[in-house]
Amino acid sequence: MAYDYDLFVIGAGSGGVRAARKAAETGARVAVAEEYRVGGTCVIRGCVPKKLFVYASHFSGTFEDAAGFGWSVGETGFDWPTLIANKDREIDRLERAYRSNIDKAGVELFETRAVIDGPHTIRLEANGDRVTAERILVATGGRPSPHPALPGHEHCISSNEAFHLERLPEKILIGGGGYIAVEFAGIFNGLGVDTTIVYRGMEILSRFDPDVRRALHAQYEKNGIRILCHNVFENVKRLPNGRLQASLSGGGTEEADEIMLAVGRLPNVEGLGLETVGVETAHNGAIMVDDYSKTNVDHVWALGDVTDRMQLTPVAIHEAMCFVQTVFHDNPVKPDYDTVATAVFSQPEIGTVGLAEDAARDKFQNLDIYRASFTPMLHTLSGRDEKMLMKLIVDADSDKVVGAHILGSGGGEMAQLLGIPLKMGATKADFDMTMAVHPTASEELVTFAAPSERIRGGETV
Ligand code: NDP
Repeated sequence: MAYDYDLFVIGAGSGGVRAARKAAETGARVAVAEEYRVGGTCVIRGCVPKKLFVYASHFSGTFEDAAGFGWSVGETGFDWPTLIANKDREIDRLERAYRSNIDKAGVELFETRAVIDGPHTIRLEANGDRVTAERILVATGGRPSPHPALPGHEHCISSNEAFHLERLPEKILIGGGGYIAVEFAGIFNGLGVDTTIVYRGMEILSRFDPDVRRALHAQYEKNGIRILCHNVFENVKRLPNGRLQASLSGGGTEEADEIMLAVGRLPNVEGLGLETVGVETAHNGAIMVDDYSKTNVDHVWALGDVTDRMQLTPVAIHEAMCFVQTVFHDNPVKPDYDTVATAVFSQPEIGTVGLAEDAARDKFQNLDIYRASFTPMLHTLSGRDEKMLMKLIVDADSDKVVGAHILGSGGGEMAQLLGIPLKMGATKADFDMTMAVHPTASEELVTFAAPSERIRGGETV
């Protein structure tokens, strides 16, 4: 049977666009459908606008730090609408670039919701047309969980709305203690907003290294962010004056202009017609796939956040590259999730690669932990009370560095580069043989002398 397309991709985010373009480069006939804006979460309402906001929020600290270097900065002011307008202009530019790349690759773009309507049929909701494809790739991403179990959740915003608020709130409460909660807390605080994190667990950033978590918590409090751990919102009400009031499980209430929920993201699977072809999903709705991103249906594939593997843009792109190798180059390649470097754009920033100390303790009996906490050079004159943390975790038996964690300016950039030696299986001896770059903060990583802690047989000795 002749299909209209060799591949139909649903969702033009980072993963979908990469898969579509790379598949088209092989000569395949490819189409992609997008119901919202081309570029997906990362470009339109995620990583990119978030990082622009992070830059914006750094200036308040930079103006303060300047005094120690002899500068007197006159009166400063911040205009939220200007930031929003400039950010929107940049996102428009990036969206145009995505569209142009799709076009140049010869991929047909349908600006509509697309629904699987039969084994190889896709219905285009905009006009009801049906097209056929030999293979279907679902790359519809995810969305912030609205947390329906919370009474009054409809009064709350998510990261989606945070990018378009008409006014900067004077006070915000943020529910959650993961990437998004921590990043937005830093942003709002830097922009002068009275900011409180409300987190259910013992310590924010549950999946990160314990030293980094504690150090960021302490720094956030020094920066003026309140962190209420062991706490959740019990309900949220709109007050007659327009403000919001949240009751907390730990007792008491808090009023704020906005309450933001950042309690995880859900896969976008509803109304896609997955059941029409019998695609299996997990209990949270995420599409289940094999090691090659194939669903239980032979010609339906899925990748990126809709599959709930690792919710990171570069991972979705990597999955897309593997998918194209597997399907269009007849070269089966499994995505590799080992030693994925990542950054949290908190303030200061976190860069991390490999195992956190608790995970390393579970995996290895004998470890050497190297830690350094020091005042970064910038703050020797600025006078800011901020420490930088660097940590290496070494498997004492093989001498391999199995985890590297940084809290401090440039942590994300360092994590990217540390990802290479850790991926290659570098040993502590390799780090020691590497000449330092002076004066930098990262030279600490190659000049650690003795371990701060030795763990043998699972016990600190
Ligand atoms: P995360 O999974 O990072 O964090 C969710 C947070 O919400 C956790 O602190 C979790 O607590 C808490 N939580 C979950 N359910 C509830 C509940 N019912 N009540 C109260 N608290 C709850 O999700 P995010 O939404 O922050 O981000 C989604 C994903 O997006 C991330 O996992 C990350 O992969 C990606 N991302 C990556 C970024 C980057 O690379 N810099 C930036 C932003 C997002 P607990 O820890 O106890 O489970």
